[in-house]
Amino acid sequence: MRLAFLGLGAIGAPMAAHLAGRHDLTVWNRTPERATRFAAAHRARVAATPREAATGADIVVTCLPTSAEVEALLDGPDGLLAGMTPGGLLLDCTSGDPATSRRIAARLAGMGLGFADAPVSGGTNGAEAGTLTVMVGGDDATFARARPVLECFGRRIELMGPVGTGHAMKAVNNALLAVNILAVGEGLAALVKAGVPAGRAVEVLNASSGRSFVSEALVPERVLTGAWPRTFRLALLHKDLRIAVGLLDEVGVDGPVLEVADDLIGVARELLDPDADYLEPIRVIERQAGVEVRG
Ligand code: NDP
Repeated sequence: MRLAFLGLGAIGAPMAAHLAGRHDLTVWNRTPERATRFAAAHRARVAATPREAATGADIVVTCLPTSAEVEALLDGPDGLLAGMTPGGLLLDCTSGDPATSRRIAARLAGMGLGFADAPVSGGTNGAEAGTLTVMVGGDDATFARARPVLECFGRRIELMGPVGTGHAMKAVNNALLAVNILAVGEGLAALVKAGVPAGRAVEVLNASSGRSFVSEALVPERVLTGAWPRTFRLALLHKDLRIAVGLLDEVGVDGPVLEVADDLIGVARELLDPDADYLEPIRVIERQAGVEVRG
């Protein structure tokens, strides 16, 4: 299959790496050096513009920060739509927002083009291992067409419903992740201040009912060690939280917990540097509590 991949960021690059070699792949990235580096390491052609990338592609995959960047890539003489031909499919792996995706899908349908939202979960490790969970919003036929591409980097490929539902699922998932990061950070800071060694607190938590992905995987690997790797920008997690808050509002569900989390992540962003990782709100909690959760 002829594929185009646009957006070789922290997660896009390892996802695209699984497509190279298995499919005829063309890549495009806003900063061209990243695309050149990718093509030097993998079997892929570099396109100078989104239009060039999309020309002749059966499926175009995007993985950009938000739906706004995806929508902005569509138009103009060098835009995606100038290159895509009827029968083509745009598969958006961005963690985007449902309303923008519905708008894009309607526009594309009028041009004989397909669309599905297909955000992923599993982090950069999951992308490298090809074990991502992919949450798809689209119709059955589009899902069947997209599946062989998504299976290159995903282990679970799930159709959630019509266009936009993949993004809704992803936003709620990440909102729950954000709430959990804040709650685990507050709880562990309190336990350390109360005299419980951090390592023991995490060990016992993980043998008890309050455990979670944050306490089982992220805290031992990143907080207890003090490694704080940067794999997923806090700004992007905040964006997901805001999409979730918007979704609750749209469907008429009160969301006081998510609203507080939205505020707290916003405050943490102001106190941290712009490239901070999504787990670093715990550093803010540590600072405010005057303790470190290490051990
Ligand atoms: P990065 O910030 O690492 O990369 C963003 C990519 O988008 C880069 O290729 C960047 O190009 C490109 N880009 C940014 N702005 C524009 C623009 N205006 N026009 C065109 N291209 C643009 O993000 P990630 O790869 O981490 O995330 C991508 C998506 O995947 C996000 O929606 C994120 O929420 C989601 N995601 C990320 C995960 C992770 O662990 N990192 C996990 C699951 C989902 P350039 O190189 O020029 O900056």
